[in-house]
Amino acid sequence: MIPIKSGREIGWMRDAGRAAAAVLSKLVAAVSPGVTTGEIDSLAAELIHAEGCSSAFLGYRGFPGNICISLNDEVVHGIGGVRRVQYGDIVKLDVGVVKAGWVGDTATTVGVGVLPQSLQALVDVTEQALAAGIAEAFDGNRLGDVCSAIERVVVASGMSVVRDFVGHGVGRKLHEEPQIPNYGKRGTGPKLKAGMTLAIEPMVNLGGAAVRVLDDHWTVVALDGLPSAHCEHTVLVTKGSPEILTQRPV
Ligand code: MG
Repeated sequence: MIPIKSGREIGWMRDAGRAAAAVLSKLVAAVSPGVTTGEIDSLAAELIHAEGCSSAFLGYRGFPGNICISLNDEVVHGIGGVRRVQYGDIVKLDVGVVKAGWVGDTATTVGVGVLPQSLQALVDVTEQALAAGIAEAFDGNRLGDVCSAIERVVVASGMSVVRDFVGHGVGRKLHEEPQIPNYGKRGTGPKLKAGMTLAIEPMVNLGGAAVRVLDDHWTVVALDGLPSAHCEHTVLVTKGSPEILTQRPV
């Protein structure tokens, strides 16, 4: 069963989403050449605490970071450490917070300096795919409408959708039903209903779709070593336009 949140619960999800977005927004501003991924992770810990939240990722199945930080060919689930961010890198930041027992989950890809055109296109396509998926997340539509909209944008660009990792329902738990693949068929899957909260998160590879997990048991990388991008919003399904709960302050 896909959980349907009540009005009060939606209020708490809004709070959690707002906190996750505030943290991510400040982390984006902190990404610059020379900073280590460990320093970004420590800053995340401070910011999450300052929002009155705890990390939804720290300790999850033993995950050692406060957030996920993945560079370049790393797709998702990277762990902060001694690596320094450099000009031309793309840095994926994935923030999950728990506020008063409810989870907000959001991610983005930050380009450091001016990116080569192919890399900027990768980031742009991933954002466009997320927007296309969100646009389909309304009451009465089906999950496959979201999934196929994401896939269509990526395929049209000649890039690849990562198939081994997927989006998910989110609420009291980080991972709830349903799984939300970034590929699928229009008109298939469960019907979306107002009150569902979904973490929609395209992972897009510039090269092939295949990925593997590094020896740290967490970091997912593109098998062909080519760059990968990721972005994510927690979204409330409504009878009208989908409400993005993790919209970052401008
Ligand atoms: Mg997620």
